[in-house]
Amino acid sequence: MKVGIYPGSFDPITNGHINIIERAAKITDKVIVAVLNNNAKTALFTVEDRIKMIKDSLSGLSNVEVRSFDGLLIDFAKNEGATLIFRGLRAVSDYEYEMQLAHTNKALYPDIETIFLQSDTKHSYLSSSIVKEVASYGGDISEFVPSHVEAKLKMCYNR
Ligand code: ADP
Repeated sequence: MKVGIYPGSFDPITNGHINIIERAAKITDKVIVAVLNNNAKTALFTVEDRIKMIKDSLSGLSNVEVRSFDGLLIDFAKNEGATLIFRGLRAVSDYEYEMQLAHTNKALYPDIETIFLQSDTKHSYLSSSIVKEVASYGGDISEFVPSHVEAKLKMCYNR
């Protein structure tokens, strides 16, 4: 069984992330969406909230699991028996960082392969940060995130 991990902060999940998860689920037997529990990075939502929002966005995908992880991604991958890492690429600006990450993971764990899925054109400008910024000013984010995430963001920003 081929297991792939899709790691990220998902603070919160956007339609761009959902598109990548749906496509990753078609090309591997199991996808684990791995939510980074990173104390150094200040997140708007708790890991538990982020996991719930992801789960609520993925009804009908039976081969996708959602977990949190901390520490090195490759240690988590080894524990889960995963040999693939999925990452999404939006623009050239993502490229340099993503290549550095992929090479580092490969150096640490040669059996791991990183698969880049290019962002759907419709979502190529979307990021969790931009969605949070728009939401914080009361802008319409209904095109960017599922309605339950929109509701959570509105609650956070008291809108
Ligand atoms: P990280 O903090 O690891 O970048 P993110 O949650 O921001 O975590 O993103 C996780 C992954 O999803 C990254 O590979 C990122 O490039 C990708 N991604 C983010 N937004 C989109 C999008 N709109 N379309 C495609 N991929 C995306």
